[in-house]
Amino acid sequence: TKQTGRNGYTFYNNEMNEKSREKLSLGNDLHKALLHDNFLLYYQPQVDVQSGQIIGAEALIRWKHPEKGFISPAEFIPLAEENGLILQMGEWVLRTACQQNKAWQDAGYEPIRMSVNLSMHQFQQKNFIESILRTLEETGLQANYLELEVTESIAMYDIENVIKKLDILDKAGIHVSVDDFGTGYSSLNYLRRLPVHTLKIDQSFVRDINIDWDDTAIVNSIITLAHTLRMNVVAEGVETQEQFAFLKEHGCDRIQGYLVSPPVPAGQFEQLVKKTVEG
Ligand code: C2E
Ligand code: CA
Ligand code: CA
Ligand code: CA
Repeated sequence: TKQTGRNGYTFYNNEMNEKSREKLSLGNDLHKALLHDNFLLYYQPQVDVQSGQIIGAEALIRWKHPEKGFISPAEFIPLAEENGLILQMGEWVLRTACQQNKAWQDAGYEPIRMSVNLSMHQFQQKNFIESILRTLEETGLQANYLELEVTESIAMYDIENVIKKLDILDKAGIHVSVDDFGTGYSSLNYLRRLPVHTLKIDQSFVRDINIDWDDTAIVNSIITLAHTLRMNVVAEGVETQEQFAFLKEHGCDRIQGYLVSPPVPAGQFEQLVKKTVEG
């Protein structure tokens, strides 16, 4: 702030005003970006631990701001959730991801499953299920090539209703995974009742897997828990060969992380797929 307040309170206030002005202006830009199609979708490969093949991708949104360059989704997703733009944005992500996956299949690539992140807002929409099914129909993608990622907090909320929705998705053939698993508070009793296919171990546990015994134990427990509940388990944020070796030895099904590749544009993803097929 240019003005300095006479006391701490006004100073703090000015600071707050600037922050909220910035937020407002970023919110406006976000709106324009939606209108002008300024978002990009990147894809991060998911690799089967046993075969080493790319069997899936997670779609991750990118925003290239005209002046500020790339802005992290960690910054603009919460904003979009606050101002409601997340609904339109989420629809764009879902449609683009399904279209891209279908285009890859049509081009003759080995079919993969595409994971799409869902915000709570989307999940709670009245027409949520219809809108997912309609997008599949319009893009021609088969349901079993789509996976939806929800966070643990989804289970905290109106559990019966959540189970109902997840059941419909399950019956339609759509996979659901629980993202950032281990960071929330979902009770095991809820988890047991949720028709979900996959647990994604949060990268904060993977980071020190070979260093911190607590993390070693947590990761092992999650893998065991997932398999006990007949779920798959994916480790995210895998960056080193040592982490990979540990996860392989302990029966983790899939990995995702910089060790394989960061999220990349569609064209680069195709190169990765060709590389792993050729070995
Ligand atoms: P997330 O769903 O947990 O996604 C994983 C994040 O970890 C991504 O960050 C990814 O780029 C990053 N990552 C992947 N591998 C590694 C690794 O080996 N090491 C490290 N340090 N990081 C890795 P990104 O793309 O910046 O996204 C951040 C968060 O923003 C996502 O966390 C997700 O919650 C949200 N997000 C991103 N795209 C979407 C979207 O289309 N819709 C919604 N609702 N949320 C999204
Ligand atoms: Ca995710
Ligand atoms: Ca995650
Ligand atoms: Ca995370």
